[in-house]
Amino acid sequence: MLRQKGGIFMAENATEYWRKYPLWKDVDAKDWYDWQWQYHHMVKTVEDLGQIIPLTDAEIEAGKATKEDYKFSTPPYYATLIDPKNSECPIRLQTIPSLHEIDRAAADIRDPLGEDEHQVVPGLVHRYPDRVLFLITTSCAMYCRFCTRRRIVLSKSHRTERELDQVMDYLKAHPEVRDIIISGGDSLFVGDKYLESCLQRLREIPSIEIIRIASRIPVVCPMRITEDLCKMLRKYAPLFMMTHFNHPYELTEDAKKACATLVDHGIPVMNQTVLLRKINSDPTILKCLFQELLKNRVKPYYLYQCDLSEGIEHFRTPVQKGIEIIESLRGHTSGLAVPEFVIDSPGGGGKVPIAPQYLVSESDKKVILRNYRGFLSAYTQPEERDCDCSTAEEIRKRYQIIGLEGPEKLLQSQTVGIEPQD
Ligand code: SF4
Repeated sequence: MLRQKGGIFMAENATEYWRKYPLWKDVDAKDWYDWQWQYHHMVKTVEDLGQIIPLTDAEIEAGKATKEDYKFSTPPYYATLIDPKNSECPIRLQTIPSLHEIDRAAADIRDPLGEDEHQVVPGLVHRYPDRVLFLITTSCAMYCRFCTRRRIVLSKSHRTERELDQVMDYLKAHPEVRDIIISGGDSLFVGDKYLESCLQRLREIPSIEIIRIASRIPVVCPMRITEDLCKMLRKYAPLFMMTHFNHPYELTEDAKKACATLVDHGIPVMNQTVLLRKINSDPTILKCLFQELLKNRVKPYYLYQCDLSEGIEHFRTPVQKGIEIIESLRGHTSGLAVPEFVIDSPGGGGKVPIAPQYLVSESDKKVILRNYRGFLSAYTQPEERDCDCSTAEEIRKRYQIIGLEGPEKLLQSQTVGIEPQD
């Protein structure tokens, strides 16, 4: 049972688990559960981590070999989740560098999602018609070894006032943008004041309807999710928290408490998991993760195929592994616990959903379906095929929906082809 005292986490009857580490044996609960203490006591080198848990020779060597190319850091809290006795512990594999990171695979791409190419002003990526990605900082509390944006999280910087002005000006000039994803780096690795000033400015732009905050902080430093932060975020609804749990071992009592605090303040929490070889590339592990997330009111949203970023090929799985995992979930557990499996297509093509094939055959009269147990059934198509709705035009006018896009444009207009621009 956990409670909050004075804006920080406190664990009732909790074992002060960190005290078993000599470095933190004198740290009291008040400090441990203070996110500022966590931030000021980050473990910033592999050598320092070696003072806390025993490392293998390969890990020490990898720490030295990757130092120049990619940052290392972990909050003390996340370091305590590493199993000191298991060299394949899923937390360890996400935290400690591997010598594989210095390998370059033929398929590696420095900027696999084409974000630099779609950057319209510094930090703002406009790739989809009505939503943008805003990289508010390039710093993180913990540098995940599988990071897609490892090319940019090398430098430390929050957006300057001038850059924020440019972002706001762009958004004002593009009213078609209705949804903004604030990411990074880690979007909660900035102070409350700075974050609130950005949110305030965004809410002054009438066309911005939805705000999403993408952060791994609830996983790696849950004490950052204070009542004060949640009360502040609540003011800028509709606002969604997109978090990033990859393994059930990350869903500790502290992390559950962080998620509960967000949800209790009216902030929906969605989770994005990356499919990572030898970490969570197993149906049992992911089924457990997704069910546990759901029990904690966190919706499993996306399961991502690992991107083609440089130096992370050792984390990639065959695409079939993701399909197998979805197949083992769909029908076998609540639909709410089944995320969408997607590949963020290389070159900036956006997310492409990948799913097992359940439609076996189709004709004008019937479609043949396969269910999760392999049972085949026929669904008879209706005689009447006209599906036009009388209110569609009225909705277009009332919500000022202009133009048609994609297949809808081809189906509903005289257009016979759409050629991608640029
Ligand atoms: S928190 Fe996000 S941006 Fe930062 S290293 Fe991890 S995956 Fe990359």
